[in-house]
Amino acid sequence: MPRLGLYLHIPFCVRKCRYCDFYSAPTDKGARTAYVRALCRHLAAVAPDLRDYTVDTVYFGGGTPTLLDSGDFQSILDTVRGCLSLERDAEITAECNPVTNAAGLMEGLLCAGVNRLSIGLQSTHEGELKLLGRPHGYGEFLSTYSAARQAGFDNISVDLMFGIPDQTVRSFGQTLDAVTALSPEHISAYGLRIEEGTPFYRMRQELTLPDEDAEAEMAEMVAARLTAAGYAHYEISNYARAGLRSRHNMRYWLGEDYLGFGPGAHSYLRGVRFETAPDTAAYLLAVERGDFESLRQNPVPIAGKEQKDEYVMLRMRLFDGVELADFSHRFGTSFEKEYGDVTPLVQGGFLVKTPHRIAFTEKGMRVSNTILSDWLDFGK
Ligand code: SF4
Repeated sequence: MPRLGLYLHIPFCVRKCRYCDFYSAPTDKGARTAYVRALCRHLAAVAPDLRDYTVDTVYFGGGTPTLLDSGDFQSILDTVRGCLSLERDAEITAECNPVTNAAGLMEGLLCAGVNRLSIGLQSTHEGELKLLGRPHGYGEFLSTYSAARQAGFDNISVDLMFGIPDQTVRSFGQTLDAVTALSPEHISAYGLRIEEGTPFYRMRQELTLPDEDAEAEMAEMVAARLTAAGYAHYEISNYARAGLRSRHNMRYWLGEDYLGFGPGAHSYLRGVRFETAPDTAAYLLAVERGDFESLRQNPVPIAGKEQKDEYVMLRMRLFDGVELADFSHRFGTSFEKEYGDVTPLVQGGFLVKTPHRIAFTEKGMRVSNTILSDWLDFGK
């Protein structure tokens, strides 16, 4: 039976962080309850079309999923179990903001079936958190982390950020050391990007961002320190203890099926990408009217050259890289026939090539955008 991942978007936040361009907004309890009801109705409505799938990952993303209470998680996951075939050992992740650590929340999440937490920390320095506009301090993160461990979570990921205004290589090193000392099972470390439409974009002239050299040093430092601490660097921004990669995110990079629910969610199902407009009011209205088809917008079939390029672009984010036999089997041509002789890149230390696969080295991964844009048609 083919497998499917569900992405459930929770479009609510306590307030907007200054760098964030995800779709989310402040809200109240009544709006959250109405939203959860709509999400359950939407899940139940599309379930008959998914009879041939088993669900092996569920991901509550946002926004701030932990603004919901544990009863909301229970209702949503009961709906998933009731109308879809959810595998017994499915990975069920909830993103968690440390500002939402209500008493009993962690126990409630576990009881509802959530078995993996992804906690957004970004930095252990109060000044950096403040500048980012994060609604929590480091102390709140520590309480949340310890509440999650005490409740019994044994699969926790922590999100970090580098390239923050006023951040130094030293301060980022301190963040890394403090987090690795806690020994979470998984760590994600992203470089800050100033996205258009965010408060940071409007204030960009006033921000003192680390220069290119400092940012490159930070990127090198994450890889060196986390691998020395026993984490495998398995994706450009992600590190995991053995066997504890994010199964849900892996399906994005492996080009496997996933179905997104909620405003702003993206999907890839049966070879077609589509999305739902980032508009909560419109989402609620469509669900109320039973107009679920209108929630599959901008469908794009992925085929031909685009499919090949997308396959390479996504797989090369992984240090496993492209498996050459799988590439030939899928596309009826060899990788190098399609993208050229990789020998100079291997000799330059950017790629490793074995009889079975081609993958970036750490050095290559840091300039992967340049190499990929040379190979692929995207944006040309
Ligand atoms: S908590 Fe996350 S989703 Fe919400 S505003 Fe901050 S970065 Fe964006």
